[in-house]
Amino acid sequence: MKQKINLPQFDYVNVKVNLESNSLIVYGAGMFIEPVIISLKQKGLNPLAIIDSNNSKQDTLHMGITVISPHSAIEKFPNSLVVIASAPHLIKEISEYCKLLGWKDVIDAACLLSDFDFDNSTFTNGVSQTNFNMDNYYFEYCRIYLPELVIVKQLDVMITERCSLKCKDCSNLMQYYIAPTDADKNIANFSVEKFATSVDYILELRVIGGEPFVNKECFEIIDFLKSISNKSRICVYTNGTIIPKDANLKSLVGDNIFLRISDYGGVSRNVTGLVKALDNANANYDVIRFDKWQDCAKIEYFEESEAQLTAKFKECCVQNYFTILNANLYNCPFAANAININAIPKFEDEYIEIPSTNVEDIRRIIRSMIYEKRYYGSCKYCAGRSLDDTPLVAALQTKTTLPFKSYVINRI
Ligand code: SF4
Ligand code: SF4
Repeated sequence: MKQKINLPQFDYVNVKVNLESNSLIVYGAGMFIEPVIISLKQKGLNPLAIIDSNNSKQDTLHMGITVISPHSAIEKFPNSLVVIASAPHLIKEISEYCKLLGWKDVIDAACLLSDFDFDNSTFTNGVSQTNFNMDNYYFEYCRIYLPELVIVKQLDVMITERCSLKCKDCSNLMQYYIAPTDADKNIANFSVEKFATSVDYILELRVIGGEPFVNKECFEIIDFLKSISNKSRICVYTNGTIIPKDANLKSLVGDNIFLRISDYGGVSRNVTGLVKALDNANANYDVIRFDKWQDCAKIEYFEESEAQLTAKFKECCVQNYFTILNANLYNCPFAANAININAIPKFEDEYIEIPSTNVEDIRRIIRSMIYEKRYYGSCKYCAGRSLDDTPLVAALQTKTTLPFKSYVINRI
């Protein structure tokens, strides 16, 4: 599989000569060190040491390279080029500190994290977690250093409201659908294409449902999404109940497509067979086991202050994860489905009818949703979605469609 950020600002060629003509050390033994070292090694570059000011990390090894303190590093390698492998908000501070200690050449790792190859077993923390970390890196990096760009961390393309399971606490609200349907492929493809034209870059295009493989046109949408050039990857989310065959299986093979299998135990009845089929087809995937879940599927009006809403949004694990459902763009998966089933109102500038909105307006609204909003109108009806708060048993099933209260008339 290939990690590739197709933005000229991150092109490795821009820094190739500088990196190749220097001895290298890397600053920061945190979550980005593994992909940075992998990227360097694939380019034939071998860092001499890793620097970290955290005592507990010093003297440990990362891929055979020792972590040492900044003072020890400047003594041993005063003329090396320093590559900063830290979170973007720390880059400026670390760069100034390195220059204060005496290094002259200091760069960040954006060009390295933008271009390398990996497979299912490359990362200690797995592919999904590493992709998540790298997407957060570029989203934050662009927000700080390239604010003129409109970068979308994740776009959920919801290709069906139907699912092979009926989880009573489904965060995508499938348990409330009375007559779920599949998305029309032409509408889905048109909507994604227009959205992609309106922004500078999409870090992950996510194909979801319900269960994507219940939509017979799944492969046609995936094959179309592959042609979107300003994205890094496609990630298809499945619950491990359906083993795709023929064109659906074929569509999952490629350098920039990845299958995320959510394993909910017994109900995810075909995980073993699915993994076998993907291995045989040479497709990229990982399996994430879930035993616990967030309690985020209630639709309820919560009386909350501005400060509480802002805090809820800040904690939310899907903030700035847009969703396309039918021909509409929504600010998050909860809003998409709650509005779609007519449970909550639409809020101005948090909802776009893609066919009737021009690309300039789409860009303006997305920019405002990403960079200006401190919370959305839909957050008032949502219990919140913090990654750390998982009190429920995952994937408990319901036999019947669950009732919900509609707030559409009462509160606009
Ligand atoms: S598997 Fe469960 S959680 Fe996933 S979409 Fe279906 S109903 Fe929702
Ligand atoms: S409504 Fe707000 S808090 Fe709820 S999932 Fe969406 S962004 Fe997060």
